[in-house]
Amino acid sequence: MSDKNRPAFGSCRCGHVRIEVSAPPVMTAACHCRGCQRMSASAFSLTAMVPMGKFYVAEGDPVKGGIMGPQLDHYFCPDCKTWIFTRITGMDNVVNVRPTMFDEPEWSRPFIETMTSEKLPWAETPALHSFEGFPTPEAFPALLAEFANRR
Ligand SMILES: [Zn+2]
Ligand SMILES: [Zn+2]
Repeated sequence: MSDKNRPAFGSCRCGHVRIEVSAPPVMTAACHCRGCQRMSASAFSLTAMVPMGKFYVAEGDPVKGGIMGPQLDHYFCPDCKTWIFTRITGMDNVVNVRPTMFDEPEWSRPFIETMTSEKLPWAETPALHSFEGFPTPEAFPALLAEFANRR
């Protein structure tokens, strides 16, 4: 990516919710858990972790959906029901944005993959680090540093 700090724009399937980020993600991921398989209607979900305060809902009024709390809040377009972003309790410094919303999908390539214990047998991603569950909080600083150095 030549210009790391340019804003990026995205929208849901119907276009009623428009999102904007003003900073690149600190991490990208794929999650193979059964919940993500169901919510994404696909083999895995994709995430771009964007710093809180660098993510904006520019238009529309997303509603909560999917599994309702207490640790996760999933936000959807109220009209087309597209899954747009997730907030996780205890990870208050980032927003997990679905990178396939962005007009340019360059942040969709996952750097890590999680919950491979539930992955579909044929599902493969280009992730460099695989976790049967989720990386521990202790593992995160090194992963963030490695991701930052790769861009
Ligand atoms: Zn929509
Ligand atoms: Zn998942």
